[in-house]
Amino acid sequence: MAGTHKRNTEPMRASARCGAKTRQGTPCRAPAVKGKQRCRMHGGAKGSGAPKGNNNALKHGLYTAEAKAMNTYIRDLLRDGKRQIGDF
Ligand SMILES: [Zn+2]
Repeated sequence: MAGTHKRNTEPMRASARCGAKTRQGTPCRAPAVKGKQRCRMHGGAKGSGAPKGNNNALKHGLYTAEAKAMNTYIRDLLRDGKRQIGDF
């Protein structure tokens, strides 16, 4: 009886993996937490990471949410302008 059940492990095996490097130097093979790049042991756990607005590691501010939003806005503006010029 036992061992005859065909298990469907494909969705489990297809999930994104944690990209952390282990102490052996090999990549971690645990599944990453949903919406994150790391597993629960490597910083993907709920509540881990810096709080929003933390400036402890700020160096130049080129990658802050504010700067990224500004870049997106400018890119969209340029794209829109180019598209309108292209219509002539
Ligand atoms: Zn991991």
